[in-house]
Amino acid sequence: MRSLQGEIEQRGRRIFELVDKHPESLFSKAGFYQRLMTLSMRDEQLKLQLFRFVDVLPSLRTSGEIVEHLQEYFADAHDSRKLSEFLRAGIRLARIVPWISGPILRWNVSEMAHQFIAGRNPNDVMRTLRKRRTQKIGFTVDLLGEAVVSETEADEYAARYLDLLEGLAHETKNWTDPLGKNSELFPVVNLSVKISALYSQINPADPADAIVHLTPKLRPLLRRARELGAFINFDMESYAHKNSTLELFKTVFTEEEFKDWSHAGIVIQAYLRDSETDLRDLIEWGRARGTRFAVRLVKGAYWDYETTKSRQNGWDCPVYLQKPESDANFEALTRLLLENESVVTSAFGSHNVRSIAHAQAFADELGIDRSRFEFQLLYGMAGPIKRALVDMGYRVREYSPVGELLPGMSYLVRRLLENTSNEGFLRAKFSENVSAEDLLRDPCEILRRSRNGVLPPSTATINMTTTIPKTQPGAPYENAPLTNFALPENQEKMRTALREQRNQFGRKVPLTINGEKIWTDTMFSSVNPSQPDQIVGYAAEAGTPEAERAIAAARGAFEKWRRTSFEERCQLVERAAEILERRRFELSALEVFEVGKPWAQADGDIAEAIDFCTFYARQMRRMGRPRLTQNVPGEASYQHYWPRGVALVIAPWNFPLAILCGMVSAALVTGNTVIMKPSEQSVIIGAMLMEIYEEAGVPPGVLNFLNGKGSVIGAHMVDHKDVDLIAFTGSREVGLGIWESAGKTREGQRELKRVICEMGGKNAMIVDSDADLDEAIVDSIYSAFGFQGQKCSALSRLIVLEENYDRVVERLLAAAASLRVGNPEEPGIVVGPVIDEAAYRRILEYIEVGKSEATLAYQAKEVPPHGYFIPPTIFTGVSPSKRIACEEIFGPVLSVLKVRNLDEAIEVANGTDYALTGGFFSRSPANIERVKAQLEAGNVYINRPCTGAIVGRHPFGGFKMSGSGTKAGGEDYLLNFLVPRVVTENVTRHGLAPEKTPEYRDEFLWPKA
Ligand SMILES: Cc1cc2nc3c(=O)[nH]c(=O)nc-3n(C[C@H](O)[C@H](O)[C@H](O)COP(=O)(O)OP(=O)(O)OC[C@H]3O[C@@H](n4cnc5c(N)ncnc54)[C@H](O)[C@@H]3O)c2cc1C
Repeated sequence: MRSLQGEIEQRGRRIFELVDKHPESLFSKAGFYQRLMTLSMRDEQLKLQLFRFVDVLPSLRTSGEIVEHLQEYFADAHDSRKLSEFLRAGIRLARIVPWISGPILRWNVSEMAHQFIAGRNPNDVMRTLRKRRTQKIGFTVDLLGEAVVSETEADEYAARYLDLLEGLAHETKNWTDPLGKNSELFPVVNLSVKISALYSQINPADPADAIVHLTPKLRPLLRRARELGAFINFDMESYAHKNSTLELFKTVFTEEEFKDWSHAGIVIQAYLRDSETDLRDLIEWGRARGTRFAVRLVKGAYWDYETTKSRQNGWDCPVYLQKPESDANFEALTRLLLENESVVTSAFGSHNVRSIAHAQAFADELGIDRSRFEFQLLYGMAGPIKRALVDMGYRVREYSPVGELLPGMSYLVRRLLENTSNEGFLRAKFSENVSAEDLLRDPCEILRRSRNGVLPPSTATINMTTTIPKTQPGAPYENAPLTNFALPENQEKMRTALREQRNQFGRKVPLTINGEKIWTDTMFSSVNPSQPDQIVGYAAEAGTPEAERAIAAARGAFEKWRRTSFEERCQLVERAAEILERRRFELSALEVFEVGKPWAQADGDIAEAIDFCTFYARQMRRMGRPRLTQNVPGEASYQHYWPRGVALVIAPWNFPLAILCGMVSAALVTGNTVIMKPSEQSVIIGAMLMEIYEEAGVPPGVLNFLNGKGSVIGAHMVDHKDVDLIAFTGSREVGLGIWESAGKTREGQRELKRVICEMGGKNAMIVDSDADLDEAIVDSIYSAFGFQGQKCSALSRLIVLEENYDRVVERLLAAAASLRVGNPEEPGIVVGPVIDEAAYRRILEYIEVGKSEATLAYQAKEVPPHGYFIPPTIFTGVSPSKRIACEEIFGPVLSVLKVRNLDEAIEVANGTDYALTGGFFSRSPANIERVKAQLEAGNVYINRPCTGAIVGRHPFGGFKMSGSGTKAGGEDYLLNFLVPRVVTENVTRHGLAPEKTPEYRDEFLWPKA
């Protein structure tokens, strides 16, 4: 091993000698790009703003817009000494002569982009490729483009790949291999392909679907590549796509037609913890296949994305957190690849001289000729290293992206981030002049020393490793992680749960009153909306006598429950959370059948139910202790809370567990006793929650489960003198009825009834003229059609500024046409059935209204013939006053409205009776601030979907006709279930006051039962 290290150092130093002959211009001090880099590396905040500005610039149309954005992005930094003279001068100039500075800025950014993008189009790129040929550098060409949001766009992409292939083959037909040795392994024409560009509906939970759709698109390309003697490489993207990409590669290259074709390659990302397993599996597959294939080994381009995404979702992070771990793994995989050279051709994609030198030294040790593997580097980066490698007689291939600036923006920003990364080799070598000795150190050795505490951990890892464990007091609240369906083991668990739930179809559930199971003469059936002839279960139906019994039971249990310590009550709801977690897949599967939720949405509902339990327990612990109001000598004044009494919880079917469990847990943890009435359409899930609370140990009468018709038992209980609190989530019509009825005081009533009332919405999303359309389209489609638009937060009005209108509508309609509609038992389905026949008919009626009021721009043609499937539908040219723009439809129907400017957009957005959720897509900081301040919605979302609120993070609820202003999952929610009380005692005797205010005696200042 030591001798290998010696070899690596020797080779590394040789590369540096050659590199130092030609300075790296990207890291010099002159020019727009170089100054931008220098500024970015000096100040992280400024870097963020600079890159954001660079990102929006190509989408700005006029000089005025450019100057406005420039000022908005850097307004806060104007007085800061950190803002360099370079930028200050730019802003000053821009204010004075916008018509000059706008175009200059745009030109500069465009020039900067062209340092990393090899050509605008296939013709353009040939100039670069020819030049590289004279330098003995080969190419692999990658097509840049907008994110593919529809199958139309995916088909266009596939056609462009084919054209590019033809063009490259034609232009290079007389080119020969620069090394003239082992050239059969390395075709001249090499195309890099991204699978996300070829299919818009890839769902990590459903790799099989991706394969079914991608293979027919790939075959013509592969066939033609083979005829032309070209090479096709599958690039690797984010972790969510990794398994699909690997499976696709193995599937397609095992097909009879391509089984004996050796010019296919795939990327392995060494920053992934499971990359070694994947590589071993690929090598085994390759051996069994019996034909060579290729692997490009890289560290990976999505480190920031993966770490952020996994933290947001509470997932195990798939990437290494310390840079030397990625480096060490890169070396381990290098060895694995070279040791299997007989079956796999290696390409080492790195700019890091240590990683490169290691590959060279190890290949030598194994006696592998340098013409049998290659080094690949990115266009526009590490030019001197490429030259050095060529000089040393190695194969070098340049990764050359082709495309326009606007669609190339995300690629450009990735490169800018890479070049300015604290962890990056290029910055260390070319900007910070770190010594060769340090740059060539063995990453394993660095890790060993770091573990011994000699080296501090790298800065990038600190955030990831200092999360305080949940149990520690004062630890930040942690949500239950969502299930990561990209992992095959989770897909399998869900499939098993679906099978098991299917076997339980037809189960019967009783009422639960005072701990007793009660069967009545009538039973409700709950059906599968995807196949209404399937009965998920039957539930005993309560009438008025059962409702009376339940109220009496709850009233009777209240006396004891109100005196139970808050700690005990917290522990009860926490135990319920644990059981929910244990039964997670079972409950998700039940939701798929009972309400037609797609997998991930069903899982999200269970996670939210768990969160409500843990979050409210935490809040109750905070509020449970009496609080000294003021510290004054001689007086002890404590505020504390009493529960209100009997709570009636009336829940909807659209979040059948989360909303029910949220309201029930809030009522229980605060000391109220509860009658829970789930929706008739999701009664079996409601019964499961009863079962869970019983297992958790809820005392008899404290929680009662009633199933019955809202119009009969619901109305009866709302009016009842012994019901003190009503927690309702559902339609406006029913909500307003409850609100009114609860306002009347009945004979014998003790309390003024408190109503927590969450109703519907007519939610709007505004798309600004500078919005990132890739994101706006995907998120709007998800917000409008996810779970068939049956969320109170769902998007139903898309308000688009006129500059973008045509492009937005074109892409939106194509994206909607690509959605997968079907039975949500299949993992990748986005749009399933609506809940029942009544909803089905009502939504169809609205679609008829829409046809008379606006233009039916899109309606899916094919939906399953049985079941309550409504085709996703989009109306354009909708005027704000029309019914479809004002009334809640609660189905997969979206209205698109065109407006002249942001003033009008806000006016239209605010112009309905509702104020639940609202969204805005924009990259103008000033416009974002305006919308934040002016949009009438309980939950305002900027540059993201308007659905998917997370407990604690996005307390949820609206005002106007959307609700009474309460916030489920928020810090003050529990107050709605409590009555505040203050107890003040004068503790002075004859002027003598105790030094310290006495502690309260008991949490509720009354004796425990
Ligand atoms: C020709 C070519 C093709 C490529 N194709 C792809 C592709 O298809 N898919 C893809 O994902 N990437 C791809 N990449 C890789 C990627 O774009 C980066 O260029 C590469 O990761 C930079 O690594 P390096 O060895 O050049 O530099 P180095 O500076 O040595 O390494 C930087 C890399 O280390 C990793 N890293 C950074 N910080 C940390 C940390 N705190 N903990 C752990 N790891 C960290 C990241 O992967 C980062 O990119 C390709 C690279 C090249 C050269």
